[in-house]
Amino acid sequence: MTGSIDNTLFILAKITKSKAALLLKLNNLESRVISFVGENPNKLTEFNDSLFHLHKSSGVELTSVESLPAFKSVTNYFGVTSCFIENVFSVNERNESVYLILFTDEINRYDQGSRDILFPIINILSNQLKEAESEEYQAAEEEMLVTEESVDEKFILENWKENFNDLLNLSDDIILLLDSAGCFLKINNSGALTLDYKPEELKGKHFLDIVSDENKAEVSIAFNSLIHSKKPTTFRAEFKTKLDKNVSVEFTAKTIIKENKIIGLIGIGKDISQLKKYEEEVRRLKPKLIEAERIIQVERSRVQHQKSIIEELNRLKSEFVSNISHEFRTPLASIIGFSETIVSDPDLPEEMKAEFNNVILTEGKRLAKLINDVLDLSKIEGNKITLVKNNFNIISMLKKIIEENKPLAEEKSIVLNYEYPQNEIFIEGDEEKLAQAFDALINNAIKFTNNQGRVKVIVNSLYKEVEIVVSDTGIGIPKKDLPYIFQKFYRVSRPGTEIPGTGIGLVFVKQIVDLHKGLISVQSELGNGTTFIIKLLKNTRVNKSEVRS
Ligand code: ATP
Ligand code: MG
Repeated sequence: MTGSIDNTLFILAKITKSKAALLLKLNNLESRVISFVGENPNKLTEFNDSLFHLHKSSGVELTSVESLPAFKSVTNYFGVTSCFIENVFSVNERNESVYLILFTDEINRYDQGSRDILFPIINILSNQLKEAESEEYQAAEEEMLVTEESVDEKFILENWKENFNDLLNLSDDIILLLDSAGCFLKINNSGALTLDYKPEELKGKHFLDIVSDENKAEVSIAFNSLIHSKKPTTFRAEFKTKLDKNVSVEFTAKTIIKENKIIGLIGIGKDISQLKKYEEEVRRLKPKLIEAERIIQVERSRVQHQKSIIEELNRLKSEFVSNISHEFRTPLASIIGFSETIVSDPDLPEEMKAEFNNVILTEGKRLAKLINDVLDLSKIEGNKITLVKNNFNIISMLKKIIEENKPLAEEKSIVLNYEYPQNEIFIEGDEEKLAQAFDALINNAIKFTNNQGRVKVIVNSLYKEVEIVVSDTGIGIPKKDLPYIFQKFYRVSRPGTEIPGTGIGLVFVKQIVDLHKGLISVQSELGNGTTFIIKLLKNTRVNKSEVRS
């Protein structure tokens, strides 16, 4: 057994198709696996290739191996005459097989008997081979990886300038390199283009040379602080381009320092011209926006005010409906009540009948007045009042109204006075409507004056106007209510002492005075009485003689 292996000079193991094989060199019974590279690689490589080819096509058999031309050159090279082939482990993951080829110089040395004896030794060797093969494979893989990576990295690093230049030109920003004096060393293509230059045109030019005159001082200050801070600094520069355009750029720049000395400056800038325009536009529009907001605010409060007026009007309207229904119902109840009594009792004494008829008449008149008031209101609301004008003496007209109101005043022991000039005063107007208006004023004065009070009507003749003053010593109107008394349905709320009325009398008065192009004003003090002053134009043609006299 030992003889068989003793006589084995070399054992060749085919390992990989990558031409690496392992040669087991036997020396004094000691065997170790070594790479055969360097041991006549050409011959072994050729033999190795042939074996691999055989393995792929039909398998490695002794006869086929012996017939290989490469086998002859190997046996010659080793000085051996015969060999023995053993497949020691099966096809591996790389589709390779490992065969042991034992060479000897003794012909037919490896007969069946010696082969059986050789197997345990082959086993040991095959294990060694397995380990060697996997180590070699890993090492080869790692080597391949490392080499590939380092080669690429090396290439990239060697060519970084070129790649970096490409990168600079891919950017839309302005990327520049200035020398310590502030002159351009380098600028990327799009940066130069933003300033309407070619990169080479800017080379050597001073940065400040292309900054607009107005901005030079500011940029100088920014440069100064940049040099002193040694940190990246952001500043704005306004450029005058080669084509005389204005371009605003926001830069972030940093100094380049070598051995504590500033040797240059690197900076990146963004064209913010458009942004600046937007900023200016926003600045320009800001006052307008503020103004618009103010107007919206005013409109909002106006709408709010109108809304509250509408709400108030709605409230007053429903109050009016309930008041007017009440006002209608009271005289109607009297009329129906007294009529029924007369009809149902034929024996009613004549005096009583007369008295009841009187009540029916008075209440009927009151109802008629109420209906007229409501009709007047609808006319006022529809602006449907038309004046029927004639020339009339206002003094006489007022005298008549005062006379008509005397019974009412007397009911409350109110003194009703009338003061007027000697001369007649004519005006051109709707006598009937003006009479209704003054009647409403005098009626109010009596209604809102307590018993024993005084109501006075004074007529003053002015230059072109006649002034009629209706004043009373009544309950007065609170200051806060004064602005609203000419509004529809407005009645001063007097809790506890509710005085009947619908709140349309003064609306009508104002409307009539306005239609006559006259003026109405009111003065009042709570608890001390009220004065209404009406001014109407005199009919100068008729009143001429009076004016002259
Ligand atoms: P009507 O429609 O029947 O005349 P009214 O008298 O209540 O009802 P207006 O004549 O329009 O309504 O007057 C409006 C409000 O002004 C009154 O409710 C009253 O509060 C106040 N007012 C008018 N005249 C006087 C006055 N001389 N003294 C005190 N308050 C007055
Ligand atoms: Mg009234």
